[in-house]
Amino acid sequence: MEKVINQTRKLLADWYQRYHRRLPWRETRSPYRIWVSEVMLQQTQVQTVLPYYRRFLEHFPDVKTLADADLQVVLKAWEGLGYYARARNMHRAAKDIMQKHHGEFPDSREALMELPGIGDYIASAVSSIAFNQPYAVVDGNVKRVLSRFYELSDPVNKSFSYRMFKAAAQDLLDHRRPGMFNQALMELGALVCTPKNPDCRHCPIHPLCRAYQAGRVEQFPKRIRSPKTPLHHIAVGVVYKKDRMLITCRKPEGLLGGLWEFPGGKVKKHETPEKTCIREIKEEVNLDITVDRHISQVKHAYTHFKILMDVFLCRYEAGEVKLNGPVDFRWITLQEIDQYPFPKANHKFIPALKTLSSTPGQK
Ligand code: SF4
Repeated sequence: MEKVINQTRKLLADWYQRYHRRLPWRETRSPYRIWVSEVMLQQTQVQTVLPYYRRFLEHFPDVKTLADADLQVVLKAWEGLGYYARARNMHRAAKDIMQKHHGEFPDSREALMELPGIGDYIASAVSSIAFNQPYAVVDGNVKRVLSRFYELSDPVNKSFSYRMFKAAAQDLLDHRRPGMFNQALMELGALVCTPKNPDCRHCPIHPLCRAYQAGRVEQFPKRIRSPKTPLHHIAVGVVYKKDRMLITCRKPEGLLGGLWEFPGGKVKKHETPEKTCIREIKEEVNLDITVDRHISQVKHAYTHFKILMDVFLCRYEAGEVKLNGPVDFRWITLQEIDQYPFPKANHKFIPALKTLSSTPGQK
């Protein structure tokens, strides 16, 4: 077994040195920059991350700039990348680093794990890549490669399997160059041992891969089928009062926390979306409105549910804003809309809003 492990490490290292993608976060040893990249890459593809990574570092080139920034500015830089808790946690972690570590990025895994939003994956990635410490990383790519390489029957999509994959990865880890090894295993999963049609013939470790040698690659990784993703029907209103429209800010924590949106909510059984819009706006912001017209229907998928959103142009009729749920509100002009961070689902209809020839406020 020791021989197989050593051979695998060498084959992987040779392959990685020749074929890895040149990515900006691989050109640096800065723990701050590596941390930013690893947080962004969780749940998000490399091609999507690249422009965000560059822009984020232009805005916040170091921990201090990030810690000093207003959360709304950080969320605006993150806008469209999704999973906004990542940005909120990074902002809090940067403040902690300034206060508790005098601005020095902690180099111990234990200290890293105490920072908001840093779990086993990020701590292992930063400590191995930036500080060359021997901690194996386990992400989706690593689980898939290991599952096929060792013919593991543990399901990759269940958290109870994590410890087993972690132990397998830690066993295989090259302690002499842990950062490179971790990146090589993830890169192999991204480029060669892909979810569909893995390119086994060009895989550097195919002579040692159990699934390949047994002709059973398509049987791995194992998954436990998840229940069907629920679909929620939502109605939201763009409420105009003269030339201004109402936007509200979500609570700082939870899904899409701290982002701005148009008020609205879930359509109840036997309720029309128009009625939902009127009811929700009364409940959430205490305003009486009338629905002028339907302007858009958008679909959006989150991790655990999907939404179908009907968007209505509405007219303010009466009342003073009293918040019940949101934590802030603004009456803004259309020109001001780009100053606020909105969820992706809202961005799917904002372009339509910008092209409207008339609004209820102009009539
Ligand atoms: S031989 Fe195929 S299945 Fe095995 S690790 Fe390589 S790409 Fe994956």
